[in-house]
Amino acid sequence: MAPQCPDCHKPIRWTRTEAGRRLAVDPDPDPTGNAAVWRDGNGTLRSRRPTADLPLTGWERLHLPHIATCPARQEQTALPPGRSHPTLRPPQKEEPVTSTPVPQSKINATLADPGKGEHLWIILAMYKVGDDTIRRMNNGEDPGPTLLDHENLLTTEGVGCFKCEQPYSKFIAHRKCTGSMGDPS
Ligand SMILES: [Zn+2]
Ligand SMILES: [Zn+2]
Repeated sequence: MAPQCPDCHKPIRWTRTEAGRRLAVDPDPDPTGNAAVWRDGNGTLRSRRPTADLPLTGWERLHLPHIATCPARQEQTALPPGRSHPTLRPPQKEEPVTSTPVPQSKINATLADPGKGEHLWIILAMYKVGDDTIRRMNNGEDPGPTLLDHENLLTTEGVGCFKCEQPYSKFIAHRKCTGSMGDPS
């Protein structure tokens, strides 16, 4: 039996993304899709997002992620009538203090070493994302200004050094970093 969407029961194809996650795509290729799908040597359907550096190759076909076309999803995320503003948040009494769009270049960005002996102080932050945000990102759209918002911030950890994994203190900050970026080259 062909795989079906658990929500709308339309046929889908399960692919495995480069991150190892499962992504459901619509079975038929669609030139407006943003998932490049191919079958690897083991017969597994694989998918990835074509980029300027790695554009679509001859053995890949563009498909739409099913989440972009799923009627069950559209019902859930349909805009309330009379609202042209593409947001699903209920009207807020106060506008959020910060609204930081995610710079595309920062997504999965490789961290740059500030130099040997230099600490790389970081804070790890965890943000909650909603179905609508995920759908927009899957469609390659702007996830909207609320993604990195105080409202969505769940927890932070740090400040600590990414390289030597020591928590920040004046004492540690005045000493040379003994860590590395984890790449022994
Ligand atoms: Zn569906
Ligand atoms: Zn350090």
